Order: sequence, then C-alpha cells, then structure tokens
Amino acid sequence: MADCPVCNAQKKPELILFEDEDIMAYLPEEAAAMAHIIIAPKAHYETIDKTPDYLVAWGFAIAKKLAAILLESIKLQGLNLLIENGDGAGQKLPHFTINLLPRFENDGLPLNWTPKQGNIDELKQVEARMKQALSGNWMFEGRPGQATAKPEPEKVAQDRDNYLIKQLHRIP
Ligand SMILES: [Zn+2]
Repeated sequence: MADCPVCNAQKKPELILFEDEDIMAYLPEEAAAMAHIIIAPKAHYETIDKTPDYLVAWGFAIAKKLAAILLESIKLQGLNLLIENGDGAGQKLPHFTINLLPRFENDGLPLNWTPKQGNIDELKQVEARMKQALSGNWMFEGRPGQATAKPEPEKVAQDRDNYLIKQLHRIP
C-alpha cells in the first residue's frame, strides 16, 4: 500500500532490526519510547483479525525474542506489548503491528488502568457467546500450501529459532 508508513518502512533498511520473507521488525521514526520496536507482516493487512494466523504467530515469536534481548541489553523497568486494533482502540497506522514498548521509570506513557469489578451476568453472556463461536472452529491457518492444523506454538518457535538468531541485527 503506497501511503502506508509500515509498508514504506521496508524501504529504510537502516532502521530494520530483523526481516525475512514474511515479517519485519524496525525502529519507527515516530516512537512512543526509546527502543520502541514495531513488528509487522511485510504484506499489508489492516488488523489482527485479517492477518493470517501463521504471520501473527511468527510475529509474536519475534516479539518474544526481541523482548528478551532488550531486557538483557538495556536497563528498563519492564515492557508492554501493545496492539491497537481499530479506531476505538486508538489504531493510528493502517497496518497490523505489534508494538514492543520498553518502560522506564516516570516515562509518562498512559497505558495503566485500574481493574473494575465485572458484572457476573455480563461475564456469563460473553462466555457463552465466545464458547459457542469457538466450538469446532479452532484451527491454525498455516502458510499457503500447508495444511491447517491445531496450533503447535512450540514447534513454530523451534523451527525458526536458529534462523532468527542468525538474522537478528545487533541492537546498539
Ligand atoms: Zn501497510
């Protein structure tokens, strides 16, 4: 997509930390925090629900690896993983992204909220609807040409782990 900042980030290799044929991880020029990293499929998908399962799974495996590296290499208080999905969730980019946000003391990022007691009747209604929607429909959408199957996240991670380590650029 020509005017999508995430698609266009592929043209700036100096800001890309990791990429393969499916996914890239880069440092956005407009960042929420120091070492804010965006992980995104290279192909243009607007939201997580429209993104193929195998790309979501692989994107999160990369996010986990980058989180571990950040925690080892930068002194920070914690990390948030954030997905803004749709206007009501504050989505600013027209492309599905996983935001890896390092947290520092007094960084002022407004991501905290206070949990409120739920309404038990509403919770039961949500549970019933979700379980009905999920029944018999719990399959993992694999790479094109591969059979669909139930999720095997450990296998996904193992298959690509060594490849990721070899490809990962050093974070300064
Ligand atoms: Zn895009």
